[in-house]
Amino acid sequence: MTEVVHDIPALRARQDAWRQAGQRIGLVPTMGALHAGHIALVRAARAATDRVIVTVFVNPTQFGPGEDLDAYPRTLDADVALLRAEGADVVFAPTVQTMYPPGFATRVHVDGLTDVLCGAARPGHFDGVAQVVTKLLNLGAADEAFFGEKDWQQLAIIRRLAADLNFRTRIVGVPTVRAEDGLALSSRNAYLSAEERQIAPRLFRELTRVADAVARGVPAARASEAAREALLAAGFRAVDYVEVRDADDLSPVETTPAAGRPARVFGAAHLGRARLIDNVPVPAPARSGDGAGDA
Ligand code: AMP
Repeated sequence: MTEVVHDIPALRARQDAWRQAGQRIGLVPTMGALHAGHIALVRAARAATDRVIVTVFVNPTQFGPGEDLDAYPRTLDADVALLRAEGADVVFAPTVQTMYPPGFATRVHVDGLTDVLCGAARPGHFDGVAQVVTKLLNLGAADEAFFGEKDWQQLAIIRRLAADLNFRTRIVGVPTVRAEDGLALSSRNAYLSAEERQIAPRLFRELTRVADAVARGVPAARASEAAREALLAAGFRAVDYVEVRDADDLSPVETTPAAGRPARVFGAAHLGRARLIDNVPVPAPARSGDGAGDA
């Protein structure tokens, strides 16, 4: 049975009871408007733990001025129905007042990783993410928490945060779920018109093209610039970034990454009202002996 819980004492009571019964707890933080990408996280949590808490909270502190906080889709009833079908145990849907009562004054900042990519394009965004995730990890005290690789930078920041602040919760990344045409599923895809929806998969395609080019030895800056131009030509309104970076510390990668240092291509671009982000791995560089039977 799936229970909807709005307040913190009730959430804690459920968890204390589970813990006393020796059950392991999985946490899936979301902003709602759930789609198959979120459901993949819930399934991963169900497979790995005994009890699953899904949080549905549109966190105002991670939205900047002029961003889509008010427009962000809120579909709690449909979300609960989906989570019921998936067998989630608790949906935690707090109000803003519950999460940030009067007098709330604590900020959480992760250095370095938050300065680049979406951190540069959306100042303060990752402070809001770190703040709410810190609260959710404390509230839930889950054994494992599940985050999507679609938001790779967020995942890297949360791993850093959890290690630095000694959270007991293990942070688990879940591969990106895509539509058949490659578009990463996102609640913000709801902003796309039918015509824009046709254009949207170009982001994934261009990032994949950059990844393949870099693996062949094309300089990252050249491949990224070509992708940026292609996105603008395809109808994207603006490109915040197309960049190749180290998968772990997000430092820039200029040429074919050394073996053993995985790299990814990251992109963010505006299409109509939507800001879309995605990232893909750079394939491991082909070694000279590959294909000659010695692999
Ligand atoms: P959001 O509701 O957009 O804040 O996302 C909540 C969680 O779901 C985050 O950990 C996201 O990375 C993850 N997520 C969102 N979209 C996808 C997707 N297409 N595939 C996998 N995980 C996703």
